[in-house]
Formats: sequence, C-alpha cells, structure tokens
Amino acid sequence: MINIALDGPAGSGKSTVAKILSKELDILYLDTGAMYRACGLKCVKLGVSVKDENAVSAFINDIDLRIEYKNGAQVTILDGIDVSTEIRRPEVSMLASDVSALKCVRLKMVEMQRKIANSLDCVLDGRDIGSFVLPNANYKYFVTADSLVRAERRFKELIERGTPVESLEALHEEIKQRDYNDSHREFAPLKQADDAVVIDTSNMTIEQVVNFILSDVRSR
Ligand code: C5P
Repeated sequence: MINIALDGPAGSGKSTVAKILSKELDILYLDTGAMYRACGLKCVKLGVSVKDENAVSAFINDIDLRIEYKNGAQVTILDGIDVSTEIRRPEVSMLASDVSALKCVRLKMVEMQRKIANSLDCVLDGRDIGSFVLPNANYKYFVTADSLVRAERRFKELIERGTPVESLEALHEEIKQRDYNDSHREFAPLKQADDAVVIDTSNMTIEQVVNFILSDVRSR
C-alpha cells in the first residue's frame, strides 16, 4: 500500500502537487480539505453555526457525504448532490476552518479518510495527515511557503477561475487567520510530523516540487 501524506498551510501548492503526483504514480488523490468544506456547507444548509459543537454533533455522524472519482478526479457529494464547485467558494474556506476545529467533525472525517487510505494507494493532502490521520504513512511531506506568496497564488487561481475576490490584502488576511486557526486548535492541529520532509515552496515552481517528491519516492 502506498500512502503519501502532504500537509501544509493554505495556498502552499499541496493540492496542485498532489494532483500531478497522483497521475505520475497512478494512484488516487484524496483532497481532505474538500471534506471539511462540505461539512461547513452542510452547516449553512441546516442554518447551524459552524462553531456550535452541540448542533454540529447532532448531525455529523449521519452526514451523507461521499467521495467518488470521475475520470480520476475527486467528486464531493453531499446529500446526493455534487458540491465540488460550490465548496471552492472563498467564503466556504473560513467555514471549513471553523467547523474543522470541532472534535466531533474531525473524528468523523478522519475515520472516513483512514478507510479510504487503508483500501487504496493514494496521496492525501491536508493539515494533520502525517501527524494524526496516517502516522504510519510511507511518505510524508510538509509543504509550506511565505503567507504573502500563498495569498498571491490563491488570488491568481481564483481570478483565473472567474471567482469574485475582494482584494489580495483581504485574501492575505484570511490566509493568516486560517493559519492561526488551523495551527492553534486543540485537537489534531496543522502540524509538521517529526518524520516529515519539509519543502519551502516560496521560491520553487510546481514542477520543481513535484520532481523533488517523485525522486524522493522513487529512491526509497
Ligand atoms: O485545504 P483546504 O484549504 O481546502 O482546507 C480547508 C480547511 O479545512 C482548512 O483551512 C483547514 O481548517 C481544514 N482542514 C483540516 N484538516 C485537513 C484538511 C483541511 O483541518 N486534513
């Protein structure tokens, strides 16, 4: 079984790198952030606050959330509806960050992630994969970059996708806020696993990051 854990803060390039790695190595890509985004969206649909642990714990164990693959790409299905595009909306990012701090949410999502990772060769991207979800993953990388560089990348990506975005400054603030939330939450925070290889991508192209990981994976 091949499990590659790619952790790091928002905008570090993890998801782009994970997608290319999954094609090169012919394994699945599991975007765990999409799962927390779907949980945030579910709260909005139910009219429940993403910070209300009692209200969230009342539905989370029975959440109808499925991860499927179409032509190798992940499709996130909530209550039978494909929400893969909706969960990318910028306002869903903060909702995901808040709801993912709840222990009941993490326990449920981690259970689903472990089930997938234990049955299929895959590369997973997230915040706590190497440190908590799959402490025995064969390969672990912690991908990071300066927060302004990450905001600039996200800004470009959103513009290219045609998603309305307030300003680069607002995006930078949001990224810093999410970094803080993700690394300060009590349960399974964003954390570099002791045995992870750290890659600072501030001055690296995606191709360089991919090549670095591929040669590391192939050399072991
Ligand atoms: O990776 P992405 O930006 O889509 O993740 C959205 C949010 O979900 C993150 O800010 C983080 O709070 C949360 N998340 C998490 N653990 C993961 C993946 C994402 O807490 N494994």
